[in-house]
Amino acid sequence: MVFFVVVPIFAVFWLKILPDSKDQFIQDKKRELKSVVELAYNIIEIYNKRVVNGELSLAEAQIRAGRDLSQLRFAGKEYFFAYDMQGVTKALGSDSLQIGVNRYEYTDKQGTKIMQRLIDLCKTQGGGYLTYFYPRPGDSVASQKTSYVMYYKPWQWFVGSGLYLDDVNENISIIQNNLIFALLLGLIAAFIIGSLITRAIRKPIRLLSYAAEEVSKGNYSVVIEPASHDEIGQFYNALQRMIKSIRESFEKIRQQEERFRNMFDGHDAIMMLLDPQTGKILSCNPAAEKFYGYSREQFSTFHLSHINSLSAGHIEDNIRMAIDSKQNVFHFRHKLANGEQREVDVYSSPILFDDRTVLFSIVHDVTERVENERKIRLQSAALDSAANLIVITDVRGSIRFVNKAFCKLSGYTAEECIGTTPGKLLNSGRQSHEFYREMWSVILNGEIWEGELINRNKAGHLYYEHMTITPLKDSSNHIDHFIAIKTDITDRKLAEQQLIEAKKKAEELAHVKSSILANMSHEIRTPMIAILGYSEMLQELITEDTPAQMIEKIHLGGKRLLETLNLILDLSQLEAGKYEARIQEVDCTILFQEITDLYKANAERKKLMLECTLPGGPYYFRSDPRIVNQILTNLISNAIKYTNEGKIEVTLIPPEEGKAFLEFRVSDTGIGIPAESLDTIFEEFRQVSEGRGRSFEGIGLGLALTKKFVKKLRGTISVKSLIGKGSEFSVKLPILDDLQIGAGLAVDSPATEGVTGIIRAELVKLLIVEDEIIVSQLLSDYLKGRFDFTIAPDAKSALEKLDESKFDLILMDINLGKGMSGIELTRILRQKTEYRDIPIIAMTAFAMVGDKEEFLEGGCSDYISKPFSRYQLFSIIDKNLSGH
Ligand code: ADP
Repeated sequence: MVFFVVVPIFAVFWLKILPDSKDQFIQDKKRELKSVVELAYNIIEIYNKRVVNGELSLAEAQIRAGRDLSQLRFAGKEYFFAYDMQGVTKALGSDSLQIGVNRYEYTDKQGTKIMQRLIDLCKTQGGGYLTYFYPRPGDSVASQKTSYVMYYKPWQWFVGSGLYLDDVNENISIIQNNLIFALLLGLIAAFIIGSLITRAIRKPIRLLSYAAEEVSKGNYSVVIEPASHDEIGQFYNALQRMIKSIRESFEKIRQQEERFRNMFDGHDAIMMLLDPQTGKILSCNPAAEKFYGYSREQFSTFHLSHINSLSAGHIEDNIRMAIDSKQNVFHFRHKLANGEQREVDVYSSPILFDDRTVLFSIVHDVTERVENERKIRLQSAALDSAANLIVITDVRGSIRFVNKAFCKLSGYTAEECIGTTPGKLLNSGRQSHEFYREMWSVILNGEIWEGELINRNKAGHLYYEHMTITPLKDSSNHIDHFIAIKTDITDRKLAEQQLIEAKKKAEELAHVKSSILANMSHEIRTPMIAILGYSEMLQELITEDTPAQMIEKIHLGGKRLLETLNLILDLSQLEAGKYEARIQEVDCTILFQEITDLYKANAERKKLMLECTLPGGPYYFRSDPRIVNQILTNLISNAIKYTNEGKIEVTLIPPEEGKAFLEFRVSDTGIGIPAESLDTIFEEFRQVSEGRGRSFEGIGLGLALTKKFVKKLRGTISVKSLIGKGSEFSVKLPILDDLQIGAGLAVDSPATEGVTGIIRAELVKLLIVEDEIIVSQLLSDYLKGRFDFTIAPDAKSALEKLDESKFDLILMDINLGKGMSGIELTRILRQKTEYRDIPIIAMTAFAMVGDKEEFLEGGCSDYISKPFSRYQLFSIIDKNLSGH
């Protein structure tokens, strides 16, 4: 090793560096020689300048110059010489005796005529170098010498100096020896330093090569500690970092592989790797095993055609498309191990795996989706064929679907509808903003909205529709669609409008009918008061049999007429819905007993027994006593009417625990009702015996009214009957809470006939305000001797009479013909302090429902409807006076 380093170094030194340094030295010496000759030349020139200046003569100057040059030395012993061009010596440092001697012919030991050569050199080139042999001063043997001369033309001199080459060579050998010594010294030092450096480097390099070796074996956990902080230490660190980064890269790759394996094995999605060349299944994950029902081992022997229902050729085509990335999503039908077929979407992409391209496929079971889509197609076909109009919108109201029926009615195509809103398409301007705001607030609240609208179709025609909007919610319970189901109700609406108009007309007619009835009632009642009143009075006055019987018949006929009138009025009031129930707590035992007692006389007249069976104690029940009265009255009076012998029984069924209805029966031993008439007898104007041959009086309204009364109290009525044996009417009435408290029944309570009124000791002063002379006449007859009365035919005279004297009670007719009505007069009187509390009895033929209430509200203290009996008149007068 050392040999290979040292020998080349020496060779280069010997062969190149030493010769080069020798040449260089000689050249340096010659340049030095030239510059000292130029100095000598300058000396001559200086002397010549002094000649020119006139300081010295030429001869003097030449002598001085010759002397100076002869004495001048350089490098300790070297000298100068000067000659003229004829070879005469002018200066010679080595031998001053030669000055003045012509040495033109001087020849050295080689035979070279030195002087002549130098003169030639000056003449031709102005000077230069010449090598020759010349003895050293004091020496007889000539040595090799190189001189440099310069020609000084003004004086025709040349001046020069020379170097003895032996001296130069001697210097060179000294320098060479020094160089060799320095080289040797350098080599030794280099050797020592080199071995030190080698020692310092070798250990770390060994460690580094060990580390590299370990890394190459795959051991990336090798750790090398830097020995120093120099370049090697830095190299250590760099290597360590490199190993670390390789280790991390490998770890990353390992983790990625593990992740892929975990993803592949642990993923719920069905995954498989396919060989695109052979179409074989290379690998599959557990999800695939589970889905298909084959094990991994089985899969590894399968060609794709084992699970794909396509032909092998088609499968190959699809694999090619996937591997060329022309198509990556496929829809197939896959076969499972159990023979079942499933619809699948397959996502296939080429991937690099184990240094080759394979197909990585993810299989999605979409059987349910396909089935749903099929269902949706079916449903949408069904929606399309539905007769109803169907619109589906998204949550903002933008139309997503309309069916054919909608398109047909609206005139818009499905394409025109989709994306727009029903409001934009169909708005007729007939519904207010508030209407739509309310609709939206309902459906956005998740509730179903139902209503009717007027819309406008494409042709501009208005149509009515009934619409139900149902909000549809997604799986997270958020409304995402609305489905509106509409029905064209234009025809129905038009029919309704016609009906409404018809109803309006009917109501108008009913109103007319009511007012006709009211007038009729008033007009019949007024004369009836005279008929009944006078026939009643005549019965008392006439005692002869025949006229008495005649009078009785007139009276009975009048009463029957009044009853019929009352029945007709009740019916019309009930039909007009003006007859309202007034619910109160009633003791039914008292009520039933009183009503039965009222009919006792009638029954006795026909030699019939009238019995009333009641529970032991009071029987409180919530109902309307007036209506219960009407029901019971009608049933008892019918029973008496249709029974010729035997008895009539009124039975109030005793209350039971938990029984919430009142039950009573009216039975008789009468003529009975044929089975076929049992239903019809409750209809208006229907009787068992109809037509001219009917054997009983009556107009066939009693039971119809009774049934309506029962219905008013929400009860039921039924009948059992046997021809010739008798009939039994049963009524059930539920307990009622307060229904509407409306107008009352303005029908007189039945009164016991033939009982005279209370007669007071002193005469009470009455004012009778009555325009009908016949009525005032009858009243005079009634009241004569019992009351001090004054008659006023109208309001004006009434006021005058009232001014004249003070009265205890006023009998006030309401309809006073022309001028102020009775009720207006009452209002005026009530405003006066002196008449504020006087009893004013409305005495009127206005006996329709609500009339009584109106008069009482108008200021009257009480009410009596015309016609009335004497007893009824006295009773009411007495009742009103006794309160004062
Ligand atoms: P009217 O008694 O005025 O004919 P109703 O409506 O009260 O009218 O009765 C209808 C019909 O039912 C009567 O005509 C009669 O034929 C029959 N009817 C009613 N009550 C009885 C009864 N208690 N016994 C037999 N028939 C009766």
